[in-house]
Amino acid sequence: MDTKHCFSDNFAPNWYRCKCGAEVHRSDMEQRKNEECPSRVREAAAKLAADPLGAVALARSIAAQERRLETDKAKLRNLQSTCDHDWSEPKYTPDVREAYSTEDLHGHFVEGQPPRMVHVPREEKPKWTRTCRRCGKVETTTTVAETVTKAPRF
Ligand SMILES: [Zn+2]
Ligand SMILES: [Zn+2]
Repeated sequence: MDTKHCFSDNFAPNWYRCKCGAEVHRSDMEQRKNEECPSRVREAAAKLAADPLGAVALARSIAAQERRLETDKAKLRNLQSTCDHDWSEPKYTPDVREAYSTEDLHGHFVEGQPPRMVHVPREEKPKWTRTCRRCGKVETTTTVAETVTKAPRF
């Protein structure tokens, strides 16, 4: 925290005042602006005593960010719910669990033998994803509609 004078009050032509009462002429400004301000030093000490770890300020900042996040989320929900969606082509984005081997827990354990391993095959659950080009909304589905295509046969 800055504890130097803050000569922000231009109370007369070429004269400036800090809130601690210190006054300076423009010509001395360069020299005096690095002096410690007793009033700001006191303020800094009081702030430090009230929140020695900076934790109170951090908690307050987090709470403010969370409020902003909630507001933004509500705004986005509102925009996306009223959007006249322009969907991209659906992409195939399956949930995949790769194959793996594991100990056979149901098998018969034979003393002195290494445990029997079982192979669990790869599993793929179909899923499709589409994104709106206008509002960025992402939708996924795991259901498919059966379509019957008729082709002429000669
Ligand atoms: Zn001051
Ligand atoms: Zn949209």
